[in-house]
Amino acid sequence: MKLTIVGTGYVGLVTGACFAEMGNDVLCVDLDAGKIERLRQGELPIFEPGLKEIVLRNVAEGRLHFTTDVREGVRFGTMQFIAVGTPPGEDGSADMQHVLAAARAIGRHMNDYKLVIDKSTVPVGTADAVQAEIAAALAERGMAKVPFSVVSNPEFLKEGAAVEDFMRPDRIVVGVDDERAALLMRALYAPFQRQRDKLVVMDVRSAELTKYAANAMLATRISFMNEMALVAEKLGADIEQVRRGIGSDARIGPQFLYAGCGYGGSCFPKDVKALLRSAAEVGEPLHVLSAVERANERQKHVLVDRVLRRFGPDLSGLRFALWGLAFKPDTDDVREAPSLVVVRELLARGARVVAHDPEAMERAREALGAAGAIEYADAPMAALERADALIVVTEWKAYRAPDFDRVRTLLRQPVVIDGRNLYDGELLRGYGIEYHPLGRAPVL
Ligand code: NAD
Repeated sequence: MKLTIVGTGYVGLVTGACFAEMGNDVLCVDLDAGKIERLRQGELPIFEPGLKEIVLRNVAEGRLHFTTDVREGVRFGTMQFIAVGTPPGEDGSADMQHVLAAARAIGRHMNDYKLVIDKSTVPVGTADAVQAEIAAALAERGMAKVPFSVVSNPEFLKEGAAVEDFMRPDRIVVGVDDERAALLMRALYAPFQRQRDKLVVMDVRSAELTKYAANAMLATRISFMNEMALVAEKLGADIEQVRRGIGSDARIGPQFLYAGCGYGGSCFPKDVKALLRSAAEVGEPLHVLSAVERANERQKHVLVDRVLRRFGPDLSGLRFALWGLAFKPDTDDVREAPSLVVVRELLARGARVVAHDPEAMERAREALGAAGAIEYADAPMAALERADALIVVTEWKAYRAPDFDRVRTLLRQPVVIDGRNLYDGELLRGYGIEYHPLGRAPVL
């Protein structure tokens, strides 16, 4: 099949590369000329495990192409995926300008049947708006009779495991109102579901809401466990034991139950906001979800609260090593990452920060700008030299079993503040390191 992917970011590039890997002819379009040029040179604009190999292979085999030419993109694929960004607008609602611009461009340039697929995360009713935008653009050209369908096909991949998730999805949600479109979507996804039927076909509005409901549920689990951690600590319980205790209940399940220093990324924060907004607009305020958001905002400050408890309110003259800037491991994405809050607060209180991240330092530099006394270390241990404490923000594998002897020697004060509960406090005590986890008693 011939596919065009409009928007070549985390979702668009993975989608394009994985469909090409299955033998489709794919053209990825982006307005960002720099991004397209890098891709043409064989350089990836993002870090995602396994993606580079797939992109390079499919480019070499002639199934994957890149362009900034929107008209060429529209003419190319029978299937037109819209995978552009939907960032939060000022009032929290999803900003639909890129999606609608992509729809308009399709209407302006198409001459024959197109199946338009909303892959971006979009509020309920967007498929109707996309339909109207395309129809209006066609009518302006006197081509109102050219047929097209709009379907919703939200994406559930996780950054850091995006290729794996796309290739072996738990389910593929397709919101569709006409039979021709349903048949094409079944054929397109057939190679991804040879073992069992993973297609969950539903009406378009339900598919649009499914994506928001999934992210809202996951954000709720995280905020719930984060609050349990805070209360466990005050009550003298251990959140790790509680997690194992509740996760073994089949109704709850073990995944996504880890307490931490708040959720971030490009999806949960903005999708929670957008769903809150959509619900309020139809007069159904979401009380649980608005508490989830408030709890997360508070949680992003817990690490700094610990620093202040340990070192006092004035941090001037102190130096903190930070391990992890990405909002989670295996990605270079720092959008809405808790690390940004931690860094800004430490700097605002007069501290110096030396940060390390295996992949996200370049993006953190862009996000933090001239944020003052922050340095970047090229290795985890290098960040520790002369630091007064180590603060662990992201649970990269490289941080899980460090040489604690070296940690102890390099730090000026042997203090570890752990936002991901990676270590065993008794073990650290053996090395003479003071340990401050979340939801468990500190080991001093
Ligand atoms: P991104 O910011 O990485 O990429 C979006 C790309 O679209 C950018 O490269 C931008 O230049 C391009 N673009 C914008 N307008 C365009 C236009 N009119 N024509 C062509 N290109 C255009 O965004 P992303 O993280 O890939 O997210 C895309 C969508 O997928 C969002 O709605 C997001 O919520 C959703 N989503 C993201 C993830 C994720 O993990 N990142 C997962 C599931 C769903």
